[in-house]
Amino acid sequence: MRIARFTMTEGEPRYGVVEGDTGDEVVAEIVGDPLYRPIQFTGDRHQLLDVRLLAPVIPRSKIIGVGRNYADHAAEMGGETPPEPVLFLKPNTAVIGPNDGITYPSASREVHYEGELAVVIGRICRDVPVDRTAEVVFGYTCGNDVTARDLQRRDGQWSRAKGFDTFAPLGPWIETEFDPTDRELSTSLNGERQQLGRTKDMTYPVAALISFISQAFTLLPGDVIFTGTPAGVGPMRPGDEVAVTVEGIGTLTNRVVSRD
Ligand code: MG
Repeated sequence: MRIARFTMTEGEPRYGVVEGDTGDEVVAEIVGDPLYRPIQFTGDRHQLLDVRLLAPVIPRSKIIGVGRNYADHAAEMGGETPPEPVLFLKPNTAVIGPNDGITYPSASREVHYEGELAVVIGRICRDVPVDRTAEVVFGYTCGNDVTARDLQRRDGQWSRAKGFDTFAPLGPWIETEFDPTDRELSTSLNGERQQLGRTKDMTYPVAALISFISQAFTLLPGDVIFTGTPAGVGPMRPGDEVAVTVEGIGTLTNRVVSRD
């Protein structure tokens, strides 16, 4: 099931189930936030083209990122595969939705895309055993772990470089029936493919990540995990269009905009 968060021309965010094939989707509206209540349809249905999709979730407390989780990306960054997952946090103020602008900060001259599979947590949990992690997952979406590469190098840690407003695009929706074991992940810039990987090539697979992360942080419903990016990261400039596609979920598209 594909869960979208959306608005019409104005008004509060609403939630819906996206039905139908590509290009002909309908959003069947549901009552309230499905993270916290069972799916109940209102009876209202909208053409996908008539709604504005929003980030499908605003993380309740945090986005946890995982660094260098694909060996080919670790290599292109000049580093070894880490002996255990390297974690960082992105603030929830960085989240934007499909088609929202990624604002190029004046402090950086090297803003990179990082296409990633994102996990949406469905229930409060900690110390989750690897074989029970599926119980705490609400679903999966596409994420772009936008990174000011020059500031990442200069600062020595990653809070600013990965935490600017608009640096965590999420969407287009949450797929609740999804096996993350072996899915194609790709990123294109202005229609040209830049990244191509498969989730089976993660050093630490999704279940291992959730278990490891939950030993450090209590996870809340709506928290999001960015699971790492394959090789091929690179710079974006204002005016560029970046698209992250995860097989079985969909495509998250954003345009880069200058600050003023
Ligand atoms: Mg990343």
